[in-house]
Amino acid sequence: MRIEIKESLNHIGEEITLYGWVDSRRDHGKIIFIDLRDRSGLIQAVFLPNHKEAYVIAEKLRSEWVLKIKGKVNSRPGNMINDRIITGKIEIEILEIEVLSEAKTPPFEISSTGYEIGEETRVKYRYLDLRRERMKDNMVLRHKVVKFVRDYLDQEGFLEIETPILTKSTPEGARDYVVPSRLYPGNFYALPQSPQQYKQLLMVAGMEKYFQFARCFRDEDTRGDRQPEFTQMDLEMSFVEREDVMALNEKLLISLISKIAPEKKIQEIPFPRLSYQEAMEKYQTDKPDLRKDKNDKDLLAFCWIIDFPFFKKNDDSSWTFTHNPFSAPKPEYYDQLIKYEDIEKILTTQYDVALNGYELGGGSIRNHKPEALKAVFKIMGYSAERIENNFGHMLEALSYGTPPHGGIAWGLDRLIMLLANEANIREVMAFPKTGDSRDLMMGSPSELDAKQLKELHLKIN
Ligand code: ASP
Repeated sequence: MRIEIKESLNHIGEEITLYGWVDSRRDHGKIIFIDLRDRSGLIQAVFLPNHKEAYVIAEKLRSEWVLKIKGKVNSRPGNMINDRIITGKIEIEILEIEVLSEAKTPPFEISSTGYEIGEETRVKYRYLDLRRERMKDNMVLRHKVVKFVRDYLDQEGFLEIETPILTKSTPEGARDYVVPSRLYPGNFYALPQSPQQYKQLLMVAGMEKYFQFARCFRDEDTRGDRQPEFTQMDLEMSFVEREDVMALNEKLLISLISKIAPEKKIQEIPFPRLSYQEAMEKYQTDKPDLRKDKNDKDLLAFCWIIDFPFFKKNDDSSWTFTHNPFSAPKPEYYDQLIKYEDIEKILTTQYDVALNGYELGGGSIRNHKPEALKAVFKIMGYSAERIENNFGHMLEALSYGTPPHGGIAWGLDRLIMLLANEANIREVMAFPKTGDSRDLMMGSPSELDAKQLKELHLKIN
């Protein structure tokens, strides 16, 4: 039976079977050492000339070959203990070995952190890049964060519900990725920029508390740590006010960090709150970095930004929303919205949570009355026809007894990036695109063959 390398500590004096990759090999004349690696850690394996068959194979081994080994776990003498690996107090004396796979020489170092290697090579050979300890640890952390949030929200009565990927364009301020329809010539699906409309429709449907780890797609020009697809922790709740959603999220973030990243310190609890105006006046940004010591890698300074203006002027002096057209105004501005008065003074229920200078998430209480949503679109200058075509389904749904509701979405990749002390979200995604939106491993985007284009009723211009 297979034993994980880290478990071999519990088998001192016994014969066990391990599986893994050759991390490194050291030939000391008579004795050959290899470090064997599996997901759980490394162990030093010793080949002695008296176990002849195994020894002969050991002479040929190279890095990244995959092995099955049988051997005896021995304690190391005191002066040979290696504190840098979890199995540093033991080693395994090899009795039998089987090579399960040989490996070509990898295009780069796997035992390093990888920061020194160019991005293009790393993403092209991502399956090798992920073998490095740092990347494996990032995947483990990501798994733990997701699991914690899932369990926590389950305890709070939330249902995890999936929403479609083939959908219709949502106005969230970015360009859509579109998918041509074969069955309906000239028609397209859009990939969701967020599940905003579906999650609100789930509230109309009486689901009351929804969440999802939602893949979101935004066709934006290359910008720093943006990715064309990323993951949001998306939630929505019925019968709540702004304070309820903020309180739940603050509690969740605090518990998450104390459980999953206990080395981190949260600078201030409750999270400080700034109005948009205050933030802009004091810090010239709506995602200020409030850390008192910016060199402390374990310091997390969360803050909420509230009281954003609902609308802003476009260059052509028409109005657009600052965050989300589905947001409700703060209750005291409701009449102004419906009457289109003093539009620039209307504040929204939007709340953003910022962390160490990054926008971590944002959400709002929604317009659950169709006339309020309609007023938003009218202010933006949409014609009755455009409102009907793009949002008729939402306005209709809202007219069948909609509970007041609100929610939030966190940039999950960003949160994990900050917890992992990484500088880029690509470091915490298994298969990211390059900074210029390519997948060099699969070779996408790529051309379609003539037959596919024809089926999709497309001509390339
Ligand atoms: N859908 C919003 C976004 O993607 C988040 C929300 O308001 O819940 O930013």
